[in-house]
Amino acid sequence: MSDHTDLLVIGGGISGASLLYTVSKFTDVEDVTLIEKESEIAAVNSHHTNNSQTLHFGDIETNYTLEKAEEVKEGAELLAGYLENVDPDREMHDRRSKMVLAVGEAEVAELEARYHDEGFGELFPKLEPIGREEIAEIEPKVVEGRDPDTELLALQTPDGYVLDYGMIAESFVEAARTEAGVSVHLGTEVTDIDEGGEGFTVETDDGDFAADAVAVAAGSHSLQFAQEMGYGEDMSLLPVAGSFFLADDLLNGKVYTLQMKKLPFAAVHGDADVHDPSVTRFGPTAKLVPALERGELSTVGDFADVFGFTLSSFLSYANVLADRILFPYVVRNLVYDLPVVGKRTFLPHVRKVVPSVEVGDIDRAKGYGGVRPQIVDTESKELDMGEAKIHGDGILFNITPSPGASTALKNAMVDTRTLLEFLDSTYTFDEEAFRAETIDNFPRLGDGESSDEDAGESSDEDAGSDGTVPSEDASSAIEADD
Ligand SMILES: Cc1cc2nc3c(=O)[nH]c(=O)nc-3n(C[C@H](O)[C@H](O)[C@H](O)COP(=O)(O)OP(=O)(O)OC[C@H]3O[C@@H](n4cnc5c(N)ncnc54)[C@H](O)[C@@H]3O)c2cc1C
Repeated sequence: MSDHTDLLVIGGGISGASLLYTVSKFTDVEDVTLIEKESEIAAVNSHHTNNSQTLHFGDIETNYTLEKAEEVKEGAELLAGYLENVDPDREMHDRRSKMVLAVGEAEVAELEARYHDEGFGELFPKLEPIGREEIAEIEPKVVEGRDPDTELLALQTPDGYVLDYGMIAESFVEAARTEAGVSVHLGTEVTDIDEGGEGFTVETDDGDFAADAVAVAAGSHSLQFAQEMGYGEDMSLLPVAGSFFLADDLLNGKVYTLQMKKLPFAAVHGDADVHDPSVTRFGPTAKLVPALERGELSTVGDFADVFGFTLSSFLSYANVLADRILFPYVVRNLVYDLPVVGKRTFLPHVRKVVPSVEVGDIDRAKGYGGVRPQIVDTESKELDMGEAKIHGDGILFNITPSPGASTALKNAMVDTRTLLEFLDSTYTFDEEAFRAETIDNFPRLGDGESSDEDAGESSDEDAGSDGTVPSEDASSAIEADD
């Protein structure tokens, strides 16, 4: 006999947890079930050691088009608003300075054009261009030891949210569990999904579940499930592992470098860890691996499934890797994980952020990092930027490379609308209440947030020695600046 549920969510990372929260708190769907194969929530890419802990708004990501930034911004504001609402003591997040740094004439010109001519200054009113002196006030180590004749410019914002996505996922699951009809099964692996009759039978290693609708939020494995059911056959995955290097107390907030064009992976950046600001992280690297999860040999076979060994996957990989920017980048990245030589070769990336760093100051963070499922379109034979969503009949699949964690609540909002259509009933989604708990709490300029001109100053003045803005101080500074 199967347990019956209206909606079954597969995967308890930030995506599945956001959806569970949204459906259980803001709709009248009666039964929602979440199934996660690990014994805890968010043990894979959403765990705080495995990603860059950044809430991507699109303001300092110089590989985003304005259109992409507009899309991502709403997602980030939803999540930031949720955190401003439920996490006043900043246990799951912090709000620090964030900047993207241009070094040298060409990069400075590029960043100026982005801010003044391409619409990013207008889209992000809290983003401010700052020069060498202001950079040195906020991030002294970025300027220390740098050639005084090299031009520097940064776009800086106080919206440098640094997040523990794992704790946030747990908070979503906890909030959902207070509602009737919610059940969460940890340590339960989904082995198959069968479509038929009135709905779906989801087979697990702990028995079967019957569901009217299914949302697959299983990271890279979402594509594997989709393809087993005949969906997403024009896609393959390029799994890209990211590692980090650690150093002692070099930065107060986040410092991104300018993105290399055509690369879908975030540029190397430096930042202070969400839970211990005295630890500075540099990364992530981008190493191709034939597996869907970091350090999990059992997922090599899963990679083989999504690769498919078809002519079009081989041709797509060949086309993607033949790129004259991507190929040398990928080869260089193979070296960074090697002992001794790895950190020496990675050092120039770190020095672009903090010039005075010596090789002895950094160490590879053992056990840190995850695998980004970069999507390959096997029809166009190109690498796609960002996430993908596949809609079936009564089932949807989310594949979530960066910025999938930043946009998890937005995806949940969009998916909830779709799932209610699938359920084909009188269920309703109280979007006003959803917004009241989330995006309505996001601090805006002219709405209690400091003015454009003062944003940099206030974050600096009000910051503790570690650059963080304590939550009470943040609100008083915000009001004083009104
Ligand atoms: C190095 C790196 C840096 C990143 N930095 C950022 C960043 O700064 N900001 C950002 O927004 N994004 C970042 N990302 C991307 C981000 O980590 C992901 O988008 C996000 O964690 C995806 O969440 P998810 O819930 O979809 O997937 P996951 O967190 O991977 O969760 C999927 C879950 O599904 C479960 N699952 C899989 N198969 C099954 C099955 N058969 N049965 C049951 N459960 C199953 C897994 O155990 C897992 O818990 C980064 C990623 C990497 C690798």
